[in-house]
Amino acid sequence: MGAYILAIDQGTTSSRAILFDLQGQVVALAQQAFKQHFPADGWVEHDAEEIWQSCLSCVREVLTKVSFGADQILSLGITNQRETTVLWDRATGEPVCPAIVWQDRRTAEQCRELQATGYETLISQRTGLLADPYFCATKLQWMLDNVPGARERAEKGELAFGTVDSFLLWRLTGGAIHATDASNASRTLLFDIHRQCWDEELLQLFRIPRKLLPEVKDSADDYGRTLPELFGGEIRIGALIGDQQAALVGQACFEPGMAKSTYGTGCFLMLNSGHEPLQSDHRLLTTVAYRINGEVCYALEGSIFIAGAAIQWLRDGLHLIERASQSEQLAQQTDEAHGVYLVPAFTGLGAPYWDPDARGALFGLTRDTGIAELVTAGLEAVCYQSCDLLQAMKGDGLRPQQLKVDGGMAANNWLLQRLADLSGCEVLRPQVIETTAWGGCITGGVAGRGI
Ligand code: ADP
Repeated sequence: MGAYILAIDQGTTSSRAILFDLQGQVVALAQQAFKQHFPADGWVEHDAEEIWQSCLSCVREVLTKVSFGADQILSLGITNQRETTVLWDRATGEPVCPAIVWQDRRTAEQCRELQATGYETLISQRTGLLADPYFCATKLQWMLDNVPGARERAEKGELAFGTVDSFLLWRLTGGAIHATDASNASRTLLFDIHRQCWDEELLQLFRIPRKLLPEVKDSADDYGRTLPELFGGEIRIGALIGDQQAALVGQACFEPGMAKSTYGTGCFLMLNSGHEPLQSDHRLLTTVAYRINGEVCYALEGSIFIAGAAIQWLRDGLHLIERASQSEQLAQQTDEAHGVYLVPAFTGLGAPYWDPDARGALFGLTRDTGIAELVTAGLEAVCYQSCDLLQAMKGDGLRPQQLKVDGGMAANNWLLQRLADLSGCEVLRPQVIETTAWGGCITGGVAGRGI
């Protein structure tokens, strides 16, 4: 019996492999960034092949760092960037086009039409989501309509669709298993979160051939084994779970009313609502948190597309800072009444506005506005957006008193203090900050022990 659990944390900007022991200590970690492609305004793409290679090399690197082999690993849990849509050839396993990333807004027009023709109510009732380009269905529809031959091949059953978890699973098992879990399925806009199955009416609405779709399993389940030649032995795959849902698990938000907020590229505030799929009246999403032993735990979610990405922009786009962490010191030096506001709607606005056409803006510039004020405004934008989500939750009668935070930005003490001051919430940061991977590990461990 193995004594370790491996988590693959496949994020938006990098992939990581983390090996945990059964006490939850990190034994070894490897990380690899991969390329972001921005081919047009509002378009964001990844190369699924590069994502696969990055995961493969991270797991191999982790295994070279320890003195034992794959046979000591009890279970592998995969947690992943959600909604990013991959379409691949079943015969070769090759992606047929670039993956369309969750941030991509190219299908804004289709979504407007869905709203105008009154379909949003049906979508929302079945999936808990809204007609927004964020989710998979219109991305997949775009691929089928724009990649030459894709629709015919899809109808013949030659292609497979999946979110990143599915694609990695396919590759890890040598094409033996085409599956996803309920948390990832709940982000496709094609999955009925109440009946827990693909919805025929939505498949017709988006013109998606059923043959493309993966089987939907529990988050902790039997996902087969990795090909022995990949890692010098088979590893049992015990979990697939979306990264934000994994962070909810990793932050131990198991009781209804408990909330976490992850500050990475984007910000995702999620509130456990137990076995009740609560419907928001304030344009928050209802989503599957996880499904274990066939039992669904639901969550209410607010998604913000740009959080840390604003700091990335200040660093890599404007070259105002060299490292993201410098933002903390600059904010400490800035007068609280500086009056500069950044609206980081670079790829539209997510919850609770859902405006794919909005674009960023800077307000309150004066002659003495400098780098420190702009950087501070970037950090404060994250706080203001979080407050908007908390306000929406309050409107739904569900405002949390405590917020468990994680993600790369949660290292910033100034940001967390400002968040606490502006929101009035108690902001808690865990000691183990690898909460997403830890959530993947816990879920994988549940399956590994056959619980
Ligand atoms: P993801 O998983 O989405 O790739 P991470 O959780 O790794 O993202 O967080 C990285 C993001 O956090 C980057 O956008 C970076 O700009 C931001 N970031 C990292 N450290 C800090 C910091 N000390 N202060 C502010 N932002 C930070």
